[in-house]
Amino acid sequence: MFDCAIIGAGLAGLVAARHLADRGLKVCVLEARDRVGGRVENKVLNDGSYVELGGQWIGPGFDSLLEIIEELGLETIGMPADGNLVVRLRGQALSVPSSEDEPALTPFEVSDLGQGLMRLRRLAERLRTDNAWRQANDTWLNQDLRRWITTNLRTQGAQRRFTEVYAAAFGPMPQECTLLEGLHQVNAGPDLETMLASNGGLHQKRVEGGMAAVTDALAAKLGDAVRLGAEVVKVEHGDGVKLTLADGEVVEAKQLISTLPPRLAMSLEHEPALPQWRSEAADKVAPGNVIKAFLIYDTPFWRELGLSGQSSADEGAVRVTFDTTAKGAAKGHLMGFFEGADADSLSRRSVTLRERAFTDSVVRSFGEQGAKPVAYLERDWAAEKFTGGCHGAHFAPGVWTTNGPILAQADGPLHWAGAEYANRFNGYLEGAVRSGREVAAAVARNLA
Ligand SMILES: Cc1cc2nc3c(=O)[nH]c(=O)nc-3n(C[C@H](O)[C@H](O)[C@H](O)COP(=O)(O)OP(=O)(O)OC[C@H]3O[C@@H](n4cnc5c(N)ncnc54)[C@H](O)[C@@H]3O)c2cc1C
Repeated sequence: MFDCAIIGAGLAGLVAARHLADRGLKVCVLEARDRVGGRVENKVLNDGSYVELGGQWIGPGFDSLLEIIEELGLETIGMPADGNLVVRLRGQALSVPSSEDEPALTPFEVSDLGQGLMRLRRLAERLRTDNAWRQANDTWLNQDLRRWITTNLRTQGAQRRFTEVYAAAFGPMPQECTLLEGLHQVNAGPDLETMLASNGGLHQKRVEGGMAAVTDALAAKLGDAVRLGAEVVKVEHGDGVKLTLADGEVVEAKQLISTLPPRLAMSLEHEPALPQWRSEAADKVAPGNVIKAFLIYDTPFWRELGLSGQSSADEGAVRVTFDTTAKGAAKGHLMGFFEGADADSLSRRSVTLRERAFTDSVVRSFGEQGAKPVAYLERDWAAEKFTGGCHGAHFAPGVWTTNGPILAQADGPLHWAGAEYANRFNGYLEGAVRSGREVAAAVARNLA
């Protein structure tokens, strides 16, 4: 009999297992796939380099994850700092300087900046559509744009980056520029929020060797406690738990941590049945649908053109790209996402068609050199039996407040951990780590 069984060897399950094993408790991690990592996965290419098919970016505030990375002796790397960003709008590709070498914003500054950009866009829209409003506010609209920025954005970081994003889109702000002139620029130019989203308002890092280096190292420390190819099909819980695997084997434990996303968890047989409110809450948090894809080129040709490989567009199947070329890789790796409705319809089409759609987007952003990739790779996470969608479950507005905390409540000895049960960084790698740690601490207290 184990002290604690854990369903799933993704980040949350491995972190929870390590926490318990470090306290001398007897754990087993049952993983359905023939690999660990779950939504974290490396694909090794012929030249020995790799691409990351699942979660990879580490954002600001990912402190628990960074602590683990450091403990494991792994290194992080930033986004490629050199080269311009491409913004493709209404069929026209613009090359704008990247702000990667600027200091990172705190999440509070990012939110402040986002609000400021949104206010500016709304004012621009009003200016365009409401002539009476414009006339009534003539004096106010003729105030200095810099003054408007300092009164409408509360943090210095956001004020600084606002001015940079504005300058990247429209050229340096003239010494004397009115709010009215700024709003005219906004109406005529690119979408500032799209630019911010891909131009490093959030400075992202990744792990050298891929995020899978983290899950592999955690699993290696757990040794035989991790069992691959062990699909749990039935959970019985009372005083303790009894798990039945797909091959009929039964595993018993005093406590259980399930790390399956809410909807996926409902596909297992539970005895007694899970409360009705849990399945209703799970129904409201549908997983998203994203296909993560890579085009591999003989060289990272965009770099020779003075471009960073980052692009964002207002149309096309793949609207955002990043240069994810691994250190020492012989080829160039360009990553992009098929998202939402595009992913829905294209997932029903052939791989060749998706490769062509991605290639077309690259040509429109980076030019003809993008027309001849040497390989295409992808992972359609919605088609994965043991994931069922990604990046993670999507909480519609208000749904987290009403359903999130109750989803994470334990049902007797059955505890829930994972990115979707985290009350901070929900859906992210950091959320998976924090939730795994917190739930393991609760289980350890129960066992004590
Ligand atoms: C394409 C993509 C890109 C992403 N990008 C980012 C990013 O850049 N930054 C970020 O912070 N987050 C990102 N995410 C989200 C992040 O990867 C996840 O939040 C995190 O990995 C979830 O970890 P988890 O342990 O909670 O769940 P999972 O990793 O889903 O772990 C659950 C585990 O349970 C196993 N399992 C399922 N059913 C059974 C069963 N019946 N029996 C036994 N085992 C079972 C699964 O195989 C899996 O290993 C991304 C996700 C995807 C898919």
